Amino acid sequence: MSCIFCKIVEGSIPSTKVYENEHVLAFRDIQPAAPVHVLIIPKKHIATMNDVGPGDWGLLGDVHEAAQHIARQEGVAESGYRLVNNCGSDGGQVVFHIHYHLLGGEKLGALNV
Ligand code: 5GP
Ligand code: ZN
Repeated sequence: MSCIFCKIVEGSIPSTKVYENEHVLAFRDIQPAAPVHVLIIPKKHIATMNDVGPGDWGLLGDVHEAAQHIARQEGVAESGYRLVNNCGSDGGQVVFHIHYHLLGGEKLGALNV
């Protein structure tokens, strides 16, 4: 298994966990881009948004539920935050285990859209 996020799930690579349940793990990004920068992943290995199968949407619901919880826990629910999934090369995805970035704790810049 060469996936670094799977290794974080199994514990062979350390991480600073902020939330965990049966299906979801969240930990601090090693190179934070904002005062609060948490990565939220399903424990199941799914490479990208393109690879989410018909039976996986509940799992992504679990990830979103975790994001709502973590935003409160990190104290950014009221001030606001950004939840981002990068998909594939043009989307800027570097780690091919699906994840959401939860960013906050400061006024974030506008997206290039
Ligand atoms: P992507 O560009 O794929 O959406 O984001 C991958 C993120 O994973 C990056 O923000 C990067 O800093 C983070 N990251 C990469 N390797 C590790 C690691 O070993 N531990 C942690 N905590 N974060 C990592
Ligand atoms: Zn993985």
